[in-house]
Amino acid sequence: MAICPFAVQQIIPESYSQGRITPTTLIYHRAVSSAESLLGYWTTPGVELESHFYIGQFGTIYQFMDTSARADANMDANNFAISVETWDGGNTPDSMAWSTAQLAAAKRLAAWVCETHGIKRAAAQTWNGGGIGGHNWFPYPWAGGPRGCPGTARNAQIRNDIIPYVAAGGGWRTSPQEDDVLTGPQEQWLLDLHKVVVSGATRTAKLNLDLGFIRESILSDIGAVKALLAAVIAAQKDDLSDADVLARLDAKLDEQWAEVERRLEQARQIDREAMEDAVRDVLGEDNAGQADEIVRKLGERLTGTEAA
Ligand SMILES: [Zn+2]
Repeated sequence: MAICPFAVQQIIPESYSQGRITPTTLIYHRAVSSAESLLGYWTTPGVELESHFYIGQFGTIYQFMDTSARADANMDANNFAISVETWDGGNTPDSMAWSTAQLAAAKRLAAWVCETHGIKRAAAQTWNGGGIGGHNWFPYPWAGGPRGCPGTARNAQIRNDIIPYVAAGGGWRTSPQEDDVLTGPQEQWLLDLHKVVVSGATRTAKLNLDLGFIRESILSDIGAVKALLAAVIAAQKDDLSDADVLARLDAKLDEQWAEVERRLEQARQIDREAMEDAVRDVLGEDNAGQADEIVRKLGERLTGTEAA
């Protein structure tokens, strides 16, 4: 797992579900966006693409994908490229350069990526030979055809600012202690916890969909049976009035519905146990104490009780 210690973490589920990669290449883009972060865009239903990073208007770096996971922004290069989208206000002239704050962020990020993954501190010479470049440097393998991304001014900044900075050994730390503080065991523990929460949320959303579907199916079955029985009763005309028989039928259906609710509760319980297993699994033996605490809190939330 490779998480940038100075990026704002907005990890999306694809970071855990897509294949692992060994990065050799760093590719800069412009986003054609005025959004402060692309999180909302990446998580929009139907959007299949994703990028590892985004540099916002004022130089804040957002990370959406672990850099050891494949992000789909670079066509044939997805299996070895780390992609960095950048704010451009949504309508960029080719001559619009990165601001001072954005460029500083782009240089710092390049230094971290090169150090973390051993990427060549040089301009990419071929599409699959490693190094640093802009999206349209190799239009067909990297972009699927000619493109204006990231633009002539930003391409010049990659060549004249970013690459010389890392080639000269420019770093990413702002203090000698930063590395220890930000990549220690606590940081890893928080990242693991984040992973549990994201996968739990995805599973819960799916369970709710399933439950909704089951409930609808049952209700439509019940409605059909009820109508059928009412017709039969009306035809037979025995000693009881139709209303009496329907009242008995309603009572029977209430019983049946209570049974359905009981089964749904069982299903929720099974899901809760699976989530608890996931917590213990991800945190491991060494963090059993924290795992117990999280499981206890989950239980409180799910049952609406507070432990004494
Ligand atoms: Zn691009």
